[in-house]
Amino acid sequence: MREIECRTGDWLFNAGLVGFVNIVGKENVRIEGQRLFFDTALLDGFEESYFAYFIKAYEKTLSWYKIISYKEEMERHREADFSDFDELSLDRLNNYIAIAKYYLKSNSYVGAYPLIDETKDPVQWGKNLTKVGQLKKKETFEERCTEIIQNVKQVYTQLDEIIDFCQSQKGKKYLAAKNVIYTVINNGWSGVSFLYSQTKEKDCYIDYRKSFVEPVLEHLETNLEKAKFNCITCNEPIKNMKLDLSFMNETGFDTARKTSHVWDFNNDIAVCPVCKLIYSCVPAGFTYVYGNGIFINDSINIDTLHAVNKKVHNEILHHSTENLTSTSPYRALIEAITNQTEDKRHYELADIQVVRYENETYRFNILSKRALKIFRESKETLKTIQKCGLKEGNLNINFYQETVRRLMNNENLFTFIHKTMYLKVTNVSNTYYHMGHVGALLSINTNFLKEIEAMTDISKGQIWHINKCGTEFKKAYPENKLSGFNYKILNALKTNNRDAFMDIILNSYSYLGKAIPDFFLKAFTNDETFKTVGYAFMVGVNGPLENNENGGNKDEE
Ligand SMILES: [Zn+2]
Repeated sequence: MREIECRTGDWLFNAGLVGFVNIVGKENVRIEGQRLFFDTALLDGFEESYFAYFIKAYEKTLSWYKIISYKEEMERHREADFSDFDELSLDRLNNYIAIAKYYLKSNSYVGAYPLIDETKDPVQWGKNLTKVGQLKKKETFEERCTEIIQNVKQVYTQLDEIIDFCQSQKGKKYLAAKNVIYTVINNGWSGVSFLYSQTKEKDCYIDYRKSFVEPVLEHLETNLEKAKFNCITCNEPIKNMKLDLSFMNETGFDTARKTSHVWDFNNDIAVCPVCKLIYSCVPAGFTYVYGNGIFINDSINIDTLHAVNKKVHNEILHHSTENLTSTSPYRALIEAITNQTEDKRHYELADIQVVRYENETYRFNILSKRALKIFRESKETLKTIQKCGLKEGNLNINFYQETVRRLMNNENLFTFIHKTMYLKVTNVSNTYYHMGHVGALLSINTNFLKEIEAMTDISKGQIWHINKCGTEFKKAYPENKLSGFNYKILNALKTNNRDAFMDIILNSYSYLGKAIPDFFLKAFTNDETFKTVGYAFMVGVNGPLENNENGGNKDEE
C-alpha cells in the first residue's frame, strides 16, 4: 500500500482528475484543496471501474441498451398473451429487428463475441432474423392478425436468445464497453491501447490494464534516485522519455509525435505513468452528447471542480435522456452555474474557464463574472427560448445556444435579433418561434448592455411601455402599408441610421394624426439605446407579447 498524490494542473489534466474521481468514487480518495491523494490499492481492478463508470453514465445512450431494452415490451405482450399486440407493436418490432440485425454484424460487436461465449454465433442469429407480417396492399392487420402473432411468437424466441446473450454479465461487460469506447472514450484520446487499430490484445479490459495501469505499478517499484528526466506535468523523476501525450486528441501534443522521428532529441514532453493514467481518464471528466463535450475548469479546488462538473453531468444525462440535443451542454452549463446558491460568493470572485469539445476540436471560453451575472439575471427568460430555433440551409440555429455563445464571447445580440425579426416579418418558413421570443432576446440583450454599461438610461418597464406603443401603432396603421413600414424601419435599424428611422417614425405618426411618443426623442443617446428602443417598438408592431412560454409553432428539430 502506498499513497499517490496528484495536484491540479492545466484544464486537460484537471479533466483527467475529475474523471479519475468519477471512476473510483469520491469516497475513495482524499482531497485537500488542490491536492488529491489515493491509495495504490485502488489500482487493483481499476480497468473494471474505468469501463463501469462509462457504461453506467452513458448506459441509455448505448446501442447495447437499444438491443436489450426491447425485452420489456416483449414481456408485456407475453403477459397479456398478445391481446395488446397491434399494428403499432408490429411496426416497433420490425424497426427493432432492423436495428438488431445492423448491430449484430457490426465490427465492434463481432470482435467481442468470442470473449462472451465462443460457442455462440450471434452473426448468424442476426442473419436469421426477418421482419414479420409485412402487409400487402389492401390487407389489414386485423385480417392477418392470428397468423402474424404466430410469427411474432417465433421471432420472440429468436430474440430471447439474442437479448439473453447481450444482457448476460459478460455480454454487458464487453458489448457495452465496445460502445463506450467508440462513442465516448474516443472523444478524449485515440491511437493507443484498445483504440489502436492494430492492437493485438482482444480484451479491451486487459489492453487498458497493460497500457495504463501496469506501467504505474512498475514505476512505483523503480528506483528513481538517478533518474535524469522529469514528468512534464508533475515534475516527478522518470526513468526515460518513452511515455508522451501524443495519444490525447487535438491538444497539440500529437504534432510532437510527427516531428519526433525526425528530431529524436526534440521529444521533451514525456510524462510519468501516473499522469498518463490520469490523462486516460479525461473522457470521464467531460460530459458528452453526440460527440460534443463540455468541461468546466473551475480549479479553485478539486472539490469544486468535481462538484460543478457533476452538476453539468447530471443536468445533461439524468434529467433529459429522452430529448438530448446538441443544446443540452449549454443548458446544463447555465443550470449548473446559476444554481449555485450555496456557493454564490465563490462565483462572484473568479472567472471560470469553460472547455468545449465540438467537431473534434477543443474550444475555450472564459465565463466572466459579468457573463455569470447576466445568465443569472436572465435565467427565466432563457428558459422561454429553449426550444426556439430556425433553419438556414442545412444549419439549425437554436436561440438558447446562440444566445449563450454570444454572451460568453461578450457579443451583443442585435444582429441575431435583427435576423430573427426580419425572417418573421417576411414570413420565411422554417422558423420555430414567434415575436414574443424575439422580445425575450431583446430583454436578455438589455441585461447584457446594462452589465457592460453600454446602456444605462432605459428600464425594463420602459421597454414594456415601448412594446405596448408598438402594438397600438399597429392597430391604427393601415395593414396594407405595414410591410413597407417594416422593411424601411428594419433597414434603418440595421444600418444604424437614426435620421432615416426618425423620418419614417415622424411620417407614420403624422399620417395617423397622432403625437409621437416621448421615448423616441429622449432615448436616442447612443447606438445601443437607439437599437433597443427600435427593436422593442418593432416587437410590439409585429406580434403579441403574451404567451411566450411555448416554443414557437413547432419544436426545434
Ligand atoms: Zn507525472
